[in-house]
Amino acid sequence: MRNTGIGSWLDRRLERSGSKTAVIDGENTLTYVQLRDQAARIASALDAAGVRQGDRVALLGENSAEFVTALFGTEMLGAVFVPLNTRLAPAEIAFQLEDSEAKVLIHDVALTQLAAAAVANLGTDLPRWTTQPNQDGTPSLGELTAEVQPWAEDREIGLDDLAVILYTSGTTGQPKGACLTHGNFTWNAYNVLVDFDVASTDVSLQISPMFHVASLGMGVLPVLLKGATLVVESKFIPGRALELIEQHGITWLAGVPTTYQMLTEDPAWETTDISTVTKMTCGGSAVPMRVIEAYEERGLHFTNCYGMTETSPGVTTLPADRSREKAGSSGISQFWTDFRIVDPMGETAPSGEPGEILVAGPNVIKEYWKRPDAVTSWEDGWFRTGDMGYTDDDGFLYISDRIKDMIISGGENVYPAEVEAAILRMPSIQSVAVVGVPHQKWGEVPHAVVVLRDGAQPITDQDLQDHLADKLARYKVPKTLTIVEELPRTASGKIRKNLLRERFS
Ligand code: ATP
Ligand code: MG
Repeated sequence: MRNTGIGSWLDRRLERSGSKTAVIDGENTLTYVQLRDQAARIASALDAAGVRQGDRVALLGENSAEFVTALFGTEMLGAVFVPLNTRLAPAEIAFQLEDSEAKVLIHDVALTQLAAAAVANLGTDLPRWTTQPNQDGTPSLGELTAEVQPWAEDREIGLDDLAVILYTSGTTGQPKGACLTHGNFTWNAYNVLVDFDVASTDVSLQISPMFHVASLGMGVLPVLLKGATLVVESKFIPGRALELIEQHGITWLAGVPTTYQMLTEDPAWETTDISTVTKMTCGGSAVPMRVIEAYEERGLHFTNCYGMTETSPGVTTLPADRSREKAGSSGISQFWTDFRIVDPMGETAPSGEPGEILVAGPNVIKEYWKRPDAVTSWEDGWFRTGDMGYTDDDGFLYISDRIKDMIISGGENVYPAEVEAAILRMPSIQSVAVVGVPHQKWGEVPHAVVVLRDGAQPITDQDLQDHLADKLARYKVPKTLTIVEELPRTASGKIRKNLLRERFS
């Protein structure tokens, strides 16, 4: 029988680079041989607990070596890994456990309360295992794997089999379970290896949680496929991350804009030697200009990626060497993946004309978990992203905004993302969301909801208009603003515009 799934990668790695360091988690360092052994023991422990091929195994944890071993153990067995966002509320976790019909929940000891509360919400019992030893009698991976032999059964696991169910961030509504196959992640990893010049000598620090597709698909899996080294830390503490960059000679940073911004705000930013870093991959949302500039001052350029849970997650990449020339662009399509822009009639839009972004490629999911109603997401083999964008004459993609967030004011389209980027240039503003509010004459007009920087003087509607007067067309300029303490966000940090729209309508 043939296993071509993710779980087989470690076996295939052994003869090539078994003694190489695969994962570094604080004092805990695993070679590829050790990683394979631990994962294979977890596979056996899951099997002994009655988990069958195709069953779901949920994990609620911060980044750790155990996260990686549990992921590979699940995949070796042919079971389906369901990573859960640790910032979700118990009821939200319970929804994902129930929807995915998880057979077991593996969780960090530090998250015992959250895990127990989520399971209590379920109404049925669900076995819990902890990633580290604990005091309360819940079985831990260490205990369970000490009692078993490494998994040795050869199962037929193919590229079309389900590997992971990952829930979307829920920015526009209820999270949907994306059915990610072994093939989806494999092809996405090939995209990364081809387009990012990954080498087996790379040492990659994950500065974003691995339960997000950005880190899982763009970082963890390609690193381990290539036989490079993964450095993980349970909590992202900017000062600690900077220390690790120096300590391990990190060559590849992988994260989202917020984590990159937090590194630059740390007191150790100026004094840390980051000259070993040659790759900085970033995705999930646009990188603010001031963050780009802070890294450029240190000679570092972002490789900005556009993607989503449903595409495992890569769609486009802006190569670092084009980042100045094509500032604001998300780049060109990744190697095996194609995108096109269509107008509302479904016709391909000419360059410069905005339209919906459609994506096709071997890294794109074919279905959502138990959501037959969401089939409208596909059209003739192309996945409808719900994002608006346009290309320039060289075919570089520019993301305008989500269709659901677009404001139509007096017949003109206003893309909040563009207005927000201009507002963020005001030094007193820490974060901002622009939403459409009803207007008698124009139908809708943009309204700014802002959070001020600590100690900044409040700004008025007039201040905002003065700042934007020479930057944006008049119809794009919000005539009103509201100052708030904080913006409503999803567990992955994205602004929940639907709540703001409700509040300001
Ligand atoms: P839901 O689908 O549940 O509403 P979500 O779309 O936020 O949530 P994710 O899959 O985590 O869930 O996010 C993907 C989305 O993030 C993309 O569709 C796009 O809107 C946005 N995005 C990703 N990368 C970029 C980028 N580089 N620039 C701008 N926006 C981006
Ligand atoms: Mg989405």
